[in-house]
Amino acid sequence: MGVGGAKLAKVLAVTNQKGGVGKTTTAVNLSACLAALEQRVLMIDLDPQGNATTGCGIAKRSALPSVYQMLIGRSTLAEVRIKTEFGFDLLPANRELAGAEVELIEMGGREYRLREALAGAGGEYDFILLDCPPALNMLTVNGLVAAQAVMIPMQCEYYALEGLTDLVATLKKVRANLNPVLEIEGLLRTMFDPRSTLTQQVSAELESHFGAKVYRTIVPRAVRLAEAPSYGKPVIAFDPSSKGAQAYLSLAQEMLGRIVGPDLSGLSGDGAAQGATA
Ligand code: ATP
Ligand code: MG
Repeated sequence: MGVGGAKLAKVLAVTNQKGGVGKTTTAVNLSACLAALEQRVLMIDLDPQGNATTGCGIAKRSALPSVYQMLIGRSTLAEVRIKTEFGFDLLPANRELAGAEVELIEMGGREYRLREALAGAGGEYDFILLDCPPALNMLTVNGLVAAQAVMIPMQCEYYALEGLTDLVATLKKVRANLNPVLEIEGLLRTMFDPRSTLTQQVSAELESHFGAKVYRTIVPRAVRLAEAPSYGKPVIAFDPSSKGAQAYLSLAQEMLGRIVGPDLSGLSGDGAAQGATA
């Protein structure tokens, strides 16, 4: 894709309107693991909670200007961008971003602000990962309009499938009205506890509904993943041999395999669904 063979970034929104399912953990750790695999990565914190920002060791208060100024057109991407210690770039966020929700409503092209701010940066990165807030609000809509695909982290519990139905309905609406290319990149099982029968059942149901869209990599419940943010580090920088670090590294490898071609990841011969990067 791209002009003259130049590869453009794959823009992925890490999203799920359900709170606490592992969106931020996935955005931060996948960014770090893709960077460790020599990919050029930009992570964008689209959540006023700023957890992805602090998870990279950036104090929220010092994060000025933030993605908020970029969305309302007061700063450019280059002015907001920070280089993290972990090999990827970050557009940080803090509480201020909550105000964008209101201000964007009154702006022209409010759903396209992020997409427009990113135009031109596509050639600088292999991946742009967006950490969305746990809501289907204007910030998330900006993420879904800027993205080519969504990555959906989820816990395999009873209400997860119901939430997924709502999310898929939203994605369809966005595709119909705002971003016709938007697709599901993959569903990621997080905080997985294989001892739970319910988890096994929900997981099996997920596979039967979504087939190859469900990543084969499963992220286990792992205490080091929960501890790493308090040190301001992705887990591969904090404890590289931990189960959590290995899981996100294998997710990064699985993604790269899918994008390069299905033969590399051994994906049962149906790479067509993801084959839009030719
Ligand atoms: P929010 O909806 O509030 O933005 P989120 O979907 O971004 O939440 P996280 O912040 O990534 O979810 O995770 C929620 C909590 O669970 C955090 O305390 C995080 O450290 C912890 N956590 C995430 N993934 C794992 C895991 N695989 N094992 C153990 N703890 C985890
Ligand atoms: Mg989060």
